[in-house]
Amino acid sequence: MATLFSFAVMAARFLVPGLAFAPAPAVPLAILAMGVVGARRSWIDGTVIDGIRSPTSWIGVGLAIGAVLLVLSAPFTGVRESVAEPMLFPLREGRWLAVEGNGQLFNHHWPVAAQRGAWDLVRLGSIARSRRGFRRRGVAFYAFGSPVVAPCGGTVVRAVDGLPDGVPDTRRPAGNLVVIDTGAERVVLAHLRQGSVAVREGTTVSPGDPIGEVGDSGNSTEPHLHIHAQRDGRPLRLRFSDIRGPVGKGAVVGVRGGRRG
Ligand SMILES: [Zn+2]
Repeated sequence: MATLFSFAVMAARFLVPGLAFAPAPAVPLAILAMGVVGARRSWIDGTVIDGIRSPTSWIGVGLAIGAVLLVLSAPFTGVRESVAEPMLFPLREGRWLAVEGNGQLFNHHWPVAAQRGAWDLVRLGSIARSRRGFRRRGVAFYAFGSPVVAPCGGTVVRAVDGLPDGVPDTRRPAGNLVVIDTGAERVVLAHLRQGSVAVREGTTVSPGDPIGEVGDSGNSTEPHLHIHAQRDGRPLRLRFSDIRGPVGKGAVVGVRGGRRG
């Protein structure tokens, strides 16, 4: 039953425009394969049920189950070492999709050693899409301008503002950013909105202090928050006191009034 549920969720995610979910194509492809096999068998002899019962169609089922297992296990792979203390989730309103999350299998940050534990978060609207409308240009993204708070206490050791939003910049890929040194590690929050950075280098912050807004600066494909933590150049696994359960690619997290929602 749980597998069936994951199966349905994955298929739904694949069908919702605006959500990239790497292994999900395996699911509709497997369903398609089963359908084709079933239909073929029913034309030759017997019924669709005979076709679905045939060994060939079980290759499709195997593929789908494999895809589900891969996705469910992905968050448990990857970076082992964690941040010293669980942090506060830096986005305090809305529902956020982890476009990238824990795990080695489906995380585009993996080639950059210090960023292996990085998450990329986009905000979802009521129908689980990150933008209003279907046009690619001139559309509004739910994430843009959402407040970002300090996830941890510490000293701001780097604060960059003034880089434009929506102009891909590969020379300064992180765009506008804030780096907080907790004493145990450094936490990086990137792609902030131009003009929103509310702290400067040397500022002492406490968890929950406003530091800026989600933007689209640097090398960014759409407005999102990038967050990662590192210790002496080593990547760390993120932990948040208000987010439970494994957060891998495709997980939806959110905090409403301090509760996960
Ligand atoms: Zn990122």
